[in-house]
Amino acid sequence: MDAELRPPIRSLGRLAEAEEHCTRCPLYADATQAVPGEGPRRARIMVVGEQPGDQEDRAGHPFVGPAGRLLDQALENAGIDRGETFVTNAVKHFKHEMRGKRRLHKRPNAYEVERCHKWFEAELALVKPALIVALGATAARSVLGRPVPIGKSRRKRFELAGGTAVFVIQHPSALLRIRDSADRRTQFRRFSADLRHAASQAG
Ligand code: SF4
Repeated sequence: MDAELRPPIRSLGRLAEAEEHCTRCPLYADATQAVPGEGPRRARIMVVGEQPGDQEDRAGHPFVGPAGRLLDQALENAGIDRGETFVTNAVKHFKHEMRGKRRLHKRPNAYEVERCHKWFEAELALVKPALIVALGATAARSVLGRPVPIGKSRRKRFELAGGTAVFVIQHPSALLRIRDSADRRTQFRRFSADLRHAASQAG
């Protein structure tokens, strides 16, 4: 175990502090702040996204931007209380590139995901969820420790060594990129249904 995690971190507050001071990969340098996971210490369900976006980076909270609003709606449709859910990201700092004055999202690479995995492990040890929903390929890679094909993994139950069930669902930001509104509504219903299915499989 790395030095930052020794002695074991015993609270989400201490974990957030440690993440804020993390320099394990270069992403801390250009981000406003680390964005720690949020939710009850003993949440039954943990939702893991890719990384904070522009709004999350500024606010310091996960899933508060457009994708977060979609996630909120889908969780509600699926009968899952976000207030009872621990929400986090595989990578805690916002990776982006400047395009004029705009900060455009850049997908974290395998090295950055691997370096940040220690913080996910610490969240897992504290929260001990019955179910993890990994949103998108980056989250799936961090949670499962290997790449998995998103399409072929639909509604497939994975399990971590400690018995936590894992389901992989597309990231809601993918819905935001669908231009056709009818198609977007269809995909959103599918996203909500996949969340409901995952929640029904939690022990
Ligand atoms: S992205 Fe993760 S590993 Fe990289 S500096 Fe931030 S907290 Fe540390």
